[in-house]
Amino acid sequence: MSFPAVVVKASKIHGKGLFAKSAIKPGTPVIEYDGERITPAEARRRYPELPGKPRESYLLAVDSKTTIDGGKSRVRFANHSCDPSCELLVYKKRVFLIALKPLKSGDEITYDYNLVIHGDVDVPTALAATACNCGAKTCRRTMLRLADDPAAKRALKAASRST
Ligand SMILES: [Zn+2]
Repeated sequence: MSFPAVVVKASKIHGKGLFAKSAIKPGTPVIEYDGERITPAEARRRYPELPGKPRESYLLAVDSKTTIDGGKSRVRFANHSCDPSCELLVYKKRVFLIALKPLKSGDEITYDYNLVIHGDVDVPTALAATACNCGAKTCRRTMLRLADDPAAKRALKAASRST
């Protein structure tokens, strides 16, 4: 499978980002989330869950047996956005970022990380570690997945009131 050319450069969202080098149509696979395929046990060994510290990694669970470690892939530069340009698609146990909208040359390749915290981390710590500044009008202020986590939603509301 061939992919459109993308380039890594400084991002306004965070550090370095991944950017389109030409126009990309919606529905196009932009890049594969590739990397070493490891077991969840090996993922835990490489990136231990420390009490009070959210785990930072480029791990993506494909299913209950397989996790991709994207730490050496260019896909690790793809930033989170609450109004992303791409979404993850799992197809035959491979994972791709698919364009959600028409992209122009220079547009940033982003997707919604929808992070889930593993391990023993309290909600304020988790929110602080996953704060989002993507700049989207619809920014929800965290990279965490909130839809199925009412406690996180309430904590986020309380935190935004106090600032
Ligand atoms: Zn955001």
